[in-house]
Amino acid sequence: MKDTEQKLTPMLQQYMDVKKMHPDKLLLFRMGDFYETFFDDAKLASKLLGITLTARDRRSDSPVPLAGIPYHALDRYMDKLIRSGTKVVICEQVEDPKLAKGLVKREVVEIITPGAIVDDQYIDGKENNFLAAVYTGSRKKDYGFALIDISTGDFHFTTLRSTQLADEILRKQPVEIVVLDDDLLQALEELRLPYNPVLTGFDNPFFDASEGYQLLLNQLGTTTLDGFGASQNDPGTIAAGLLISYLTSLKKSDLNHIRTLRRYAIEEAMQLDETSRRNLELVKNLRSNTREASLIGVLDQTKTPMGARLLHQRLLHPLIHRKEIERRLNAVYECKDLFHITEDIRTLLDTIGDLSRILSKAGTQRINPRELLTLTSYLSTAPQLVSMLEGFSNDIFTECVEQIGDYSDIVREIEDALVENPPVQITDGNLFRDGYHKELDELRQISRDGKGWIARLEQKEREESGIPSLKVGFNKVFGYYIEVTNTHLDKVPEHYIGKQTLVNSQRFISPDLKEYESKVLGAEERIQNIEYELFVKIRARIFEETPRLLQYVGIIAEIDFITNLAWIAYHNNYCRPAFNDEGILEILDSRHPVVERLLVGEAFIPNDISLNHQDHLIALITGPNMAGKSTYLRQVGLIAVMAQMGSFVPASSANMPVFDKVFTRVGASDNLAMGQSTFLVEMIETSNILNSATPNSLILLDEIGRGTSTFDGLSLAWSIVEYIHNIKRLKSMTLFATHYHELTELENVLDGVKNYNVSVKEWNDEMVFVRKIERGGSDQSYGIQVARLAGMPDKVIRRAKQILENLEAHELSPQGLTARMRKQLASQTPQRDIFEILYEKTEEKQGLLDEVRDLELDKMTPLEALQYLMELQKKI
Ligand code: ATP
Repeated sequence: MKDTEQKLTPMLQQYMDVKKMHPDKLLLFRMGDFYETFFDDAKLASKLLGITLTARDRRSDSPVPLAGIPYHALDRYMDKLIRSGTKVVICEQVEDPKLAKGLVKREVVEIITPGAIVDDQYIDGKENNFLAAVYTGSRKKDYGFALIDISTGDFHFTTLRSTQLADEILRKQPVEIVVLDDDLLQALEELRLPYNPVLTGFDNPFFDASEGYQLLLNQLGTTTLDGFGASQNDPGTIAAGLLISYLTSLKKSDLNHIRTLRRYAIEEAMQLDETSRRNLELVKNLRSNTREASLIGVLDQTKTPMGARLLHQRLLHPLIHRKEIERRLNAVYECKDLFHITEDIRTLLDTIGDLSRILSKAGTQRINPRELLTLTSYLSTAPQLVSMLEGFSNDIFTECVEQIGDYSDIVREIEDALVENPPVQITDGNLFRDGYHKELDELRQISRDGKGWIARLEQKEREESGIPSLKVGFNKVFGYYIEVTNTHLDKVPEHYIGKQTLVNSQRFISPDLKEYESKVLGAEERIQNIEYELFVKIRARIFEETPRLLQYVGIIAEIDFITNLAWIAYHNNYCRPAFNDEGILEILDSRHPVVERLLVGEAFIPNDISLNHQDHLIALITGPNMAGKSTYLRQVGLIAVMAQMGSFVPASSANMPVFDKVFTRVGASDNLAMGQSTFLVEMIETSNILNSATPNSLILLDEIGRGTSTFDGLSLAWSIVEYIHNIKRLKSMTLFATHYHELTELENVLDGVKNYNVSVKEWNDEMVFVRKIERGGSDQSYGIQVARLAGMPDKVIRRAKQILENLEAHELSPQGLTARMRKQLASQTPQRDIFEILYEKTEEKQGLLDEVRDLELDKMTPLEALQYLMELQKKI
């Protein structure tokens, strides 16, 4: 900041002193009715906020860039700043400028960063606004990962392996990530995450494990953290402590709504990596990255923001313990059964807004009078909710009823105090009811009677002076006055004292009026002070009560979650899934929950799915383009996720195992943002699956192998299916959709592989999609017909058909031989195919077979696998 090296005025020096402490933030410096920004901050603010950039000391040699916003418009501008990811420091005048001797004292009162926002007007109600901390111990093996949402009070932590970190960040999508360590900051920057969290290096040399632990104890008001599963030297606990330390540095020490901390482990939930979440379009669709046309877009008919956020979290963390799943399903089942009460509950929930964010404001002493009254209206739903819930016998609702407290004392306290329509600002006055506070009532009497008193005085002065147009008035600058028009100036009594001369009149004050003025003005000021003090007292009391009230938040969220799922199940015609431990997946008439809702003028065709660990492990699905293979694959994955979240599912019946992991991979999807080619991404993702799937996992592979040349792709697809089928550690249920109809041959050689195809009918050279999954393989892809449907010029279509015919003459046979190869074989010229060799168990081939069998694919990178394949080809 070269421009600041000049000699500064005392005010700018004061500004620079604050700025030096916050070089990475935009400093809003209060000056009278404006928040001003200077120097580079002014240039940035002008760009971000579209405000005029001007200059202080414009005529000097080095004018100071300046841009300001009116103080009352702060909220509006703050919204823009927060959305742009800017960190903002608010520096206020902390003494009355009129009383200040010399320079007005200023202090930083608040620091707002994207992860430290309490105000719900700046953040989305349907999702959490997480601030995360990552902490790594000296061994850099385990990573502590903690998340806090100060707008709701959610606070949890875990310990992760380095390979899990990026994926967990992507699952939680914190808006800001804090780290202590520069290396870690750089590593996070290099991750090039596909969204843009603010990465904050927190420079705090005094922070260590014991400091973090102590901060947590203070925050949670306990003497030990054992009850939260947190121990002092665990990286997760340290990360949680780091969050509190960081928030304290942002002047956010009043966080009375953060009273609980939860340890979680990613293994406690179904594991869905980022690619699977994306491909299944759980919370965002692939096209526009919004909620529309995603699973949550269909499932979220919650009535409260708390319910919506819980649904979001649970959708990304489906359960893996059958008992817990059944517990939720029991509740959903009962709500669907007693649907009329469910609807009543939902109507009641509809009257409850963001209780959790209001409580977070109470817990930070920022709640305003109107929000306090809103709080009481939310809390007073409790008795009615209890009586509705008593009609149910499921465990979840029964526990909720036991936990709902009696909040009537607080409701009464606020309602007795505040008027029905209090203003938003405390300083606007008239917050409290008459009869609430004796002195306040008396002062109000004086102030209210003022109008009558003035009217009486006006009448008296008119009569005594004989000036009929005499007026008694008030203005903010000059106070009370008696106004006499110029025509009557000669009648003005002696005891009037001149105050102000206007064009047509003069203003005076009389001793009576002066005395009255001091009484009234004093009363008004006193009223303001009393109201302010009373409000601060009530606010402090609610601040103290926040932990008790928070209990209701969790209950509302839970009830909204369950009743929402029941409502969806009822309206979308879903069935209750059953679970088995025998490894059987049997879903009848399954549907894709999102696609079925998007079809216009066309019915969704349901399909069955049947897999088991005995003889039906892998379904290989072939069929023309556009037939519905991808839809089918995904609907099975979505049904698994829904069922394990506790939801009913789009099918007529579903009997399924509990999956530990669901993988969904689509061939040929680029990850250009991370600088990876289509095929490399496909292979990296697939090798991740082969390395981490288990016999309890579900694998959905959609056209894997498509991103490279046909033979390479086909060979890889073939060996991947074999690997899943043969390797004991894997043997995962798999749906594999492919255009390589040569793969259908696998059914003949691997017991657990079964062929399916999506039927299509040809009629007058036109293709009719039947969308039914049938047993058996398909022998062609109909790609050219689909191209014609897409409006491709006839000439291209005709030529493509010719080329296809030509190519088909060289196609691989079931034994993996092309027509040319078959000819060569027949003429004793041995040029043979890889698969033929692998399956021919002659002695001389045994060596090769053994080599392939002993290959440790899980330790090879995709490129090594490819290289090996090439070498193998050469050897053959
Ligand atoms: P490609 O091989 O070209 O990727 P695909 O076989 O995977 O095609 P999908 O993308 O699953 O085909 O389906 C294409 C479209 O067909 C879907 O967008 C949907 O509109 C419709 N569709 C799919 N399945 C069904 C179904 N069961 N009932 C009705 N319409 C369906």
